[in-house]
Amino acid sequence: MAITSKDLQRLFDLIAEDIAAHRDHLCELDGAIGDGDHGLAMDAGCEAAAKAVAALDPGQAAPTAAFNAAAKAFLNAVGASSGPLYATAFMRAGAAVKDRPDLGDEEFVRAFAAMAAGIQERGKAEPGQKTMVDAWKPAADAALDALASGASLQQCFGLAEQAALQGCEATRDMTAAKGRASRLGDRVIGHIDPGAASAAIIIASFTRFIHH
Ligand code: ADP
Ligand code: MG
Ligand code: MG
Repeated sequence: MAITSKDLQRLFDLIAEDIAAHRDHLCELDGAIGDGDHGLAMDAGCEAAAKAVAALDPGQAAPTAAFNAAAKAFLNAVGASSGPLYATAFMRAGAAVKDRPDLGDEEFVRAFAAMAAGIQERGKAEPGQKTMVDAWKPAADAALDALASGASLQQCFGLAEQAALQGCEATRDMTAAKGRASRLGDRVIGHIDPGAASAAIIIASFTRFIHH
């Protein structure tokens, strides 16, 4: 079944709800190896994105417009490094579905993978550097691989969610090469990267969206 802008309104609502529920935990994770604002930043950004997408008329706005509205709102709401990273992610998702009135399974997975690619391009982080890329990249790869082997959308996002959780957990043993945590050397070992944790939450929201 095709995914419309009205469905994307629900997706952004779910993301905002799930991030809000984990806001304090994300701040605690960032408090250990950063400046403690990651939960507040993601909560503000996701709430602003959901509001901006909700304000569109789904009969008029195509999916690309929904992603672009989310990008702009997220960027305006967030002063932290996650702001431009997620703004780029949503812009790339919008570009991936340009001119489409609604999205089939393959287009939706491609939009999801475009988010991961956008974050990587914007932040120039490689996997293994203890950033949100450690959750996003394996999740996008898992979804694309599953899609290529003929899996259902449910299976694609189930595998993406698992890969994101594993990738997030793996950041615990890493030192950081990007962002604030890179200044702390070995002291960050033993702590999960907050951006990888919020990425895993958002990716799980995609799974929740697909199942409802
Ligand atoms: P700030 O450090 O400006 O307060 P946030 O707390 O919102 O920003 O986000 C911190 C998270 O941003 C980190 O945990 C990491 O996952 C992510 N991050 C930082 N720099 C980069 C980068 N260059 N590429 C990808 N992710 C990054
Ligand atoms: Mg921070
Ligand atoms: Mg900050």
